[in-house]
Amino acid sequence: MQITRLPITEITRGSLAPSDGGAVVLGTLSNRDGRVFWYDTDGGRHYETGGMLAVYVPTVRIHAYGQDRNGKRHALLPQVEKETPRGVCADSQGEELAVWESGTALAGVTCGGCRLSIGLVGTYGKRESNGI
Ligand SMILES: [Zn+2]
Repeated sequence: MQITRLPITEITRGSLAPSDGGAVVLGTLSNRDGRVFWYDTDGGRHYETGGMLAVYVPTVRIHAYGQDRNGKRHALLPQVEKETPRGVCADSQGEELAVWESGTALAGVTCGGCRLSIGLVGTYGKRESNGI
């Protein structure tokens, strides 16, 4: 994924920001001691530099995920009109996906293949790497 720099106040909740080893989901815009920053969904902070913050250019839907019939949640490719929702990973192809939308939808992606594809690190990834 490509990185771009945007004015921190124009970034949308749910956007992906670079972090150690991958991308994290931005959750809440905050302001402390005159400095503006985003909290990611794991509680990490992302401070502006000259009013700007680096985020990834989205190649997936950032405000929705697709749940398959086994309850696994996949990241979704951009919506194509009149086509059924498609997940990112090979396992989700041909699966019927129920679309769930939220401000920080990508934080809820549980599919390891999808998380790997979009470089998503964070709570679910940590749990999987611990074998839980
Ligand atoms: Zn997947």
